[in-house]
Amino acid sequence: MLGFLKERQRNRIKARPFPDEWLKIIKNNVAFFSRLPAKDQAELLAHIQVFLADKNFEGCAGQDITDEVRVTIAAQACLLLLHRKTDYFPRLLTILVYPSSYLADEQRPVTADIWEEGKHARSGETGRTMGSMVLAWETVQSGAADPADGKNVVLHEFAHQLDYENFAADGTPALATRQQQLAWREVMRTEFASLRAAEATGIPTLIDTYGATNAAEFFAVSVEAFFERPTMLRSQHPRLYSELKNYFRQDPVEFSAERARA
Ligand SMILES: [Zn+2]
Repeated sequence: MLGFLKERQRNRIKARPFPDEWLKIIKNNVAFFSRLPAKDQAELLAHIQVFLADKNFEGCAGQDITDEVRVTIAAQACLLLLHRKTDYFPRLLTILVYPSSYLADEQRPVTADIWEEGKHARSGETGRTMGSMVLAWETVQSGAADPADGKNVVLHEFAHQLDYENFAADGTPALATRQQQLAWREVMRTEFASLRAAEATGIPTLIDTYGATNAAEFFAVSVEAFFERPTMLRSQHPRLYSELKNYFRQDPVEFSAERARA
């Protein structure tokens, strides 16, 4: 579709009144929503309408796709889209939802030479060329209910989708300028190396050591920490925080539940 027609259609969708039922679901399930400034809440609701008009949902293993499932996922995903022009995760067509973590065949390296194979429980996954995403509803709900535990499977998986917007799964999303790209790469390289070193020595870290897997996972877990533990991230990793803040054009310290709980 031509860009301008798509935009006109999206503007029409955004102008529809937001269903009361959906708002109730968000207020019940998505803890960060009530902490957002009113202007951001309005922007988020408009994004949710477009997102839900755009994406297909499919239930797996007996999971029903209700408005609660769709809206709870959409509200969290769309937090990543505020304050900048967006094409709504254009490579993602379908979201598959399982009731709880599901078993997947997996091969993963144990050391450089040994690969472990077998079935592993997962709560979410997506891939650059999949066109789809898998989420476990139980994990989606617990992630939405606690806005400051540093864990959010929806933010994590949709961060991967942002990473894919510039066609590579390399932990670098589409950045506006060359200068931004250079600064980003330098900071991410340093932070990734220090997470790997911490993981190797077993030192506890704020950023999930799953991020030591590769640059793409590093970006995804950093996004979880950015939105869920921004105050700690800013004080422990100021340069990483600053790059994420520039990219997202948001300062989650302002609406974080972290201090309220600390
Ligand atoms: Zn991941």
